[in-house]
Amino acid sequence: MAIKGTDIVKKLPEGGKKNCKECGLPTCFAFAMKLASGGIVLDKCPYIDPAVKLELEDALSPPIKPVTVGTGSDAVLVGDEQVLYRHEKTFVHQPAIAFMISDDEPESAIEEKTRKLTELKFSWVGKTLKADMLALQYSSGDPAKYQALVKRVSGSVDCPLMLISENTDALLAAHAICAEKKPLLYPVTTDNIEKIISAIKLTPSPAALKAATVEDLVPLVNHLKEAGIEDIFLAPDSGDLKSAIRDETLIRRAALKQNFRPLGYPTVAFPCFMTRDKAREMLLAAMFIIKYAGIIVISHIDEHSLLPLLVQRLNIYTDPRIPMSMEEKVYPINNPDASSPVLITTNWALTYFIVASEIESSKVPSWLCVKEAGGLGVLTAWAAGKFSGDSIAPFIRKSNIEQQVNHRRLIIPGKVARIRHELTEALPDWEIIVGPREANEIPSYLPDLVKSWKS
Ligand code: SF4
Repeated sequence: MAIKGTDIVKKLPEGGKKNCKECGLPTCFAFAMKLASGGIVLDKCPYIDPAVKLELEDALSPPIKPVTVGTGSDAVLVGDEQVLYRHEKTFVHQPAIAFMISDDEPESAIEEKTRKLTELKFSWVGKTLKADMLALQYSSGDPAKYQALVKRVSGSVDCPLMLISENTDALLAAHAICAEKKPLLYPVTTDNIEKIISAIKLTPSPAALKAATVEDLVPLVNHLKEAGIEDIFLAPDSGDLKSAIRDETLIRRAALKQNFRPLGYPTVAFPCFMTRDKAREMLLAAMFIIKYAGIIVISHIDEHSLLPLLVQRLNIYTDPRIPMSMEEKVYPINNPDASSPVLITTNWALTYFIVASEIESSKVPSWLCVKEAGGLGVLTAWAAGKFSGDSIAPFIRKSNIEQQVNHRRLIIPGKVARIRHELTEALPDWEIIVGPREANEIPSYLPDLVKSWKS
C-alpha cells in the first residue's frame, strides 16, 4: 500500500504549510500529491528534514524491490510488482525461467541443456520467446566436479546464473569462479548467512534466502539489510504445491497490502524439487507464473512443454491496457517483386498475423502495408478514425512502397469498403481495390486477382 499524498503533506516543512514554491509547484500539498504519484522527486524540496527524507524514501520505494541477476544485456530484472491481480493494472517484470543442471548429470545431458538454453527460441506475435537462466546445482558430493561445471558453463554460455549448493564452501568457491556475472546464490540460511554476507560484501551478488516458513525469512532479510545487502530473493521451503502457493500469496499480499517491507522482495520457486514427473513439473511452473514467482527453476526441458509455458508467461505479463501491435511498415511476404500485389491492414498483432499467414498460404508474393492504428483491428480502427482515407494516404506516401512497385493498385480490407471513395480522392494516382471481408478468403482471392491482372 503506497503512502498517500495526504500523509506525505503532513511531513513536509511547517506541516505542509510553508508553500514557498521553490519546488516549482504552487503549494506543499501539490508537491505531496505529485510525489505520491511518482511525478516529482524528493530532492526538489530543499527544506525536508533529513530524517523525514529517509522515512519518505523508504515509504515511496516500490513495495516489491526490483532485483537484477546477471550483468549486461542478458541480465534478468524481476520484482517491482504493484498489484495482486493482473487486471488491476498490469504485472511488470515476467518471471525468469531457469534450466537446472546438476553436476552429477552425464556430460551429454549438460551439453544438451546448455545448448537448449541458447537454441530454443520461438517467434511469437513479433516477439522472441526463450528461457533466461541456468541454475547449477551441487549434488555430486565432489566440490572439484561442481567447480568444473561452473567454470565450463560460465565460460561458454552468456546468461545469468544461479548457484545452488547446500554446501556453503562449495557455493562460495563456485561464486568466486563467476562472481563478475553476479550469480544468484542459494540457499542463504541462518547457518551460513555470516559467511555469505562476507563473500557478497566483497563481490556483490544477489542472495536467495531459504527458511522453513515465511515468518522465518523475516529475521534473515533484516540481517542482510543491516549488512547493507538489498539484492534479496525469498525462497520459503514450502514443500508441496498447496503450501507453495499459500506462501507466494502470503508474501505478495504482505508486501502490497500491508506494505510489510521485509517481505517486499521477489521469490524463487523450484518445481524441479517438487516433482520428478516432467508434465507435472511444467504444470507447477505454470502455476508459479500466475502466483507469483520471480524466478522459476525447472529441470526437464523440451520445446513441446517450454513453448506453452513461455506463451503463458507472455500472456500474463503483457500489459492488458495496451493492445499488442506491430511496427508500422511494409512487410514483404513470399519474396515479392515490383509487380506483386499491395495490401493494407492495421497494426493489431492478431490482425497482422492472421492476414500475413493467409497471404503466405496463398503462395502469392505480396507486399503487406501495416498502418499504425493504435493496435486496433480493422473495423475498430476505422470507427476510431485511425484507418481512414485521410490517414492511410500519408502512410502510403511515406512508406516507400511507391518506389518498390511498378503499379498503383492498393487492396483494402472488404470490411472497410466504404473508405474506397475517400482513399481514391486522397491517393488519386492509385486504384483502390476492395479485397475480401475475411482473411480466410485471401488464399483463393489473391491467385485469382493476379491471374486476372496478367490476362
Ligand atoms: S519547496 Fe518544499 S516547502 Fe517549498 S512549496 Fe515545495 S514542498 Fe513546500
